[in-house]
Amino acid sequence: NKMVTGVQALGNIRVFCRCRPQNKDDISAGCATVVDFDAAKDGDLGILNGGSTKKTFKFDRVYTPKDSQVDVFADASPMVTSVLDGYNVCIFAYGQTGTGKTFTMEGTEQNRGVNYRTLDQLFEITKERSETFTYNISVSVLEVYNEQIRDLLATSPTSKKLEVKQSSGGSHHVPGILEARVNSTREAWNVLQAGSNARAVGSNNVNEHSSRSHCMLCIMVRAKNLINGECTNSKLWLVDLAGSERLARTDVQGERLKEAQNINRSLSALGDVIYALATKSSHIPYRNSKLTHLLQDSLGGDSKTLMFVQISPSEKDLSETLSSLNFATRVR
Ligand code: ADP
Ligand code: MG
Repeated sequence: NKMVTGVQALGNIRVFCRCRPQNKDDISAGCATVVDFDAAKDGDLGILNGGSTKKTFKFDRVYTPKDSQVDVFADASPMVTSVLDGYNVCIFAYGQTGTGKTFTMEGTEQNRGVNYRTLDQLFEITKERSETFTYNISVSVLEVYNEQIRDLLATSPTSKKLEVKQSSGGSHHVPGILEARVNSTREAWNVLQAGSNARAVGSNNVNEHSSRSHCMLCIMVRAKNLINGECTNSKLWLVDLAGSERLARTDVQGERLKEAQNINRSLSALGDVIYALATKSSHIPYRNSKLTHLLQDSLGGDSKTLMFVQISPSEKDLSETLSSLNFATRVR
């Protein structure tokens, strides 16, 4: 009962690279740009690695700093809307802190990102299909920090540890997690805002905290076909990953060391899972991190995965940029 969309023909893992504009600091420091977008239309990104050497990386799409949120969503939208056809979908943003992961996923009020546009489009399509289907849409908002799952919609902190469990039907879920039923984009957005505000509670620096935890939004769709009575359950994960940068060696002590190790471990686990899927390995190591375990239903099988690799254009970030591009190349 799944409709075949054009997306599937293109394969199940796609990688889009997005480069942010130079910011005030880059400009005032006179920082050189190391990114060459001459072949961006063909999905090629050039990195100028000093002198005349240029290394080219190939992506499904490359977005220059001039490309807008609308341009980005135009390419992502067929994938997100396939959740209404019964597919599990996962979209995540990977990259160094400050390269635009949150800008791409959340965006701003004036410049809405993938999350808002996705919700808006989902509700739009459910309206169009209301003669044939009834849809029940709910959302959960989680954070994974130091390999612990936190329910950002919970109004009071639970003492019980949240864990990923497999149901008898084979799907994965977190018992006890809140799922808020939503009927419109506005309602869903309010829930997401509440989740986002809860993220700040208990951390003395909100920005630092959010760059060291994975913020995960799950949109669950239950569809019932009114003609044949068939029901499908599917879910869409929208993930703003922790920053991929390596800490300066002098910074790495105590709590920071633990955080860094956990981020490193979960991002490597994500890379390993996608690599195992891409190479059709017989064992997919989902259980090596909370992140991959949570995403299990939406990574692999006939689910659709989209990764945004976010980069900076500036020379001072070159080594982190190369490390992100190499991560992406490995999974593509
Ligand atoms: P991250 O979440 O990866 O740490 P942010 O999304 O917070 O990065 O982006 C850092 C800053 O750069 C923010 O002020 C953001 O608005 C800005 N920014 C990032 N990408 C873009 C873009 N494509 N166009 C305009 N501003 C951007
Ligand atoms: Mg961020």
